[in-house]
Amino acid sequence: MSIQVNAIRSLFPILHQEVNGHPLIYFDNAATTQKPVAVLDAIQNYYEKDNSNIHRGAHTLADRATRQYEETRESVRTLLNAREAAEVIFTKGTTESINLVAKTFGSKFIQKGDEILISTLEHHSNIVPWQMLCEQNGAILKVIPITDSGELILEEFEKLLSNKTKLVSIVHASNALGTINPVKTIIAAAHAVGAKVLLDGAQSASHLEVDVQELDCDFLAFSAHKLYGPTGLGVLYGKRALLEEMPPFLGGGEMIREVTFEKTTYNTIPFKFEAGTPSIAEVIAFKPALDFIFTTGKKQILAHENDLLDYATGILRDVKGLIPVGTAPEKVAVFSFNIQSMHPYDVGQLLDAKGIAVRTGHHCTQPLMRRLGLEGTVRASFAVYNTRAEVDVFVQAVSKIASLKNK
Ligand code: PLP
Repeated sequence: MSIQVNAIRSLFPILHQEVNGHPLIYFDNAATTQKPVAVLDAIQNYYEKDNSNIHRGAHTLADRATRQYEETRESVRTLLNAREAAEVIFTKGTTESINLVAKTFGSKFIQKGDEILISTLEHHSNIVPWQMLCEQNGAILKVIPITDSGELILEEFEKLLSNKTKLVSIVHASNALGTINPVKTIIAAAHAVGAKVLLDGAQSASHLEVDVQELDCDFLAFSAHKLYGPTGLGVLYGKRALLEEMPPFLGGGEMIREVTFEKTTYNTIPFKFEAGTPSIAEVIAFKPALDFIFTTGKKQILAHENDLLDYATGILRDVKGLIPVGTAPEKVAVFSFNIQSMHPYDVGQLLDAKGIAVRTGHHCTQPLMRRLGLEGTVRASFAVYNTRAEVDVFVQAVSKIASLKNK
């Protein structure tokens, strides 16, 4: 069954506006997606009717808020097919989830001389926490190289893997190029040498079927705001056995069992990793975003986005002066490109003048851009509410910009 895109668009109020005198075309979905009205209503409803702190109140509002908060955890469990909801930890975002693993798993299980593998495709969020850990404890960071088309070189990965490798922390789908990494193969190979695997799922959780049991990843991080949910909220999935062995991340309320001035004992998972008052409204409002994904269907969403990507790629690759960046055969709906002898930022500005929102620059992947010999790219990224008609307008605008420069 194909997507009823007009019905879907009617759920997203922000899409129905003009920008710079043109109907908004929002192609910056890899940065953040727009929110359906049910998410906006849930935030308002929470503050109007249920606002209360959770887990410790003995009153009705606290019960309601706690129940809704935990219902979202169960929905995330469903999204990821985790074994149990206790393996789902709420954080501020992908960045905090990865930092949590670096600070807790990293400090306990990664020692001087041990190796951590990442790849050239990584977002800064999956580079810097590991560099910080290595600086602190003398571990060694190694980088899996890529081909010119933006694919991991698996033979090089296998050469880098050894019994010194303690963690492989890898992006599932690249935000800058769209490349989908063969994570199942990577996870199996890493496990064979006793290494654990963290998947940066910031770009995969919204587009791909991510089944943590089938993949057998040890950790997976993603952000709610890229799945039609609120900002300020992320998820860390971790296998129970690991989470139980890891020390806490932040100390404070909620994460304790008992505190004396001499010693503190810690709460069970997931609460051990959720110190302080969490983003209650955001967690509660993430459930309608997930319901939207479940109702629409991940398969249908993916098919629609792939159709837009194939359609755009098919036309754009013939535009004179346009250089596609990232041409792996397996991609999420990200089209990165440059226009010969133009700065990406200037292209972005010209598109914005037509009401078209794209991202320009290094996309928080400076080492990747350096590897490709680029300062940056222009990136159009599609979501379920985008249409072929919008792609047509975008293609026309891009072709015009390219023709001005490349006569
Ligand atoms: N990793 C990838 C692949 C991303 O695309 C992003 C955001 O663009 C992040 C990590 C960081 O996500 P956040 O800023 O929500 O923590």
